[in-house]
Amino acid sequence: PAGPDLEALQHADVAALLPRPAAESDKYRRGVVGIAAGSARYPGAAVLAVSGALRGGAGAVRYVGPAGNAVIARFPETLVSERGPKHAGRVQAWVVGPGAGDDAGPVAEVLATDVPVLLDADGLRLADRDAVRARTAPTLMTPHAGEAAALLGTSREEVEGARLTAVRDLARRYDATVLLKGSTTLVAGPDGGTVRVNPTGTPWLATAGSGDVLSGLAGSLLAAGLSALDAGSVAAYVHGLAGRYAADGAPAGAHDVAEAIPAAWRDIH
Ligand code: AMP
Ligand code: MG
Repeated sequence: PAGPDLEALQHADVAALLPRPAAESDKYRRGVVGIAAGSARYPGAAVLAVSGALRGGAGAVRYVGPAGNAVIARFPETLVSERGPKHAGRVQAWVVGPGAGDDAGPVAEVLATDVPVLLDADGLRLADRDAVRARTAPTLMTPHAGEAAALLGTSREEVEGARLTAVRDLARRYDATVLLKGSTTLVAGPDGGTVRVNPTGTPWLATAGSGDVLSGLAGSLLAAGLSALDAGSVAAYVHGLAGRYAADGAPAGAHDVAEAIPAAWRDIH
């Protein structure tokens, strides 16, 4: 139910927030997004996160992790390194977690940086709450209901039954911006006050890898300079539209959603 501090995302607001490169821009000014995701077991999560990031407005995507070969095979423009985030060159925002497995090292390394960080999937599970709370730069967390429940010590059903309460509680607990994915995606700022509601989602987005595309897209917007609240809500809006375009009359896979991002972007402009 809509309340006084629930804001439906408006098309015009999203259009105004989409990054546009200035005439004198270069790739560094457009922003470099770092992706620490994927594993030998789940290389596809890295590919999908990169696919979202490349279509999100940053000037370059840097990938660190064990799935570099899979990433390069699909997206040759990616800057790939097998060494950890700590050794990466310039990065203006990090995405950590999709398909990453149990290595807490990269998560701790990105949390220790002074640039915005997006935590998703395994990154949510492995992040130390005090390390998140101690950050000086914004943190954006993107759980689905099951991940949110694990962080809150409750059940998925409990979260699904009280999504607004859950997203606010998480935001306050972690002093972070939280994007709760699902049938209606909600985005809450760190104080849990204003909560934005995304109107563009479609149940066709409920497909493996869909969230990985969203995390890359949102990370790219963070690197381009949007606030965590804006990056999260704009990413959800564009991702929802892309899902509708990709599944126009027939089911689609997560990579199709990523490929529909430019069409969604064009229509919002
Ligand atoms: P993940 O579970 O991490 O793969 O993320 C799933 C993505 O699909 C998120 O962007 C969700 O918001 C979206 N999604 C899942 N189920 C639905 C649904 N029933 N309606 C709209 N969007 C959904
Ligand atoms: Mg996911």
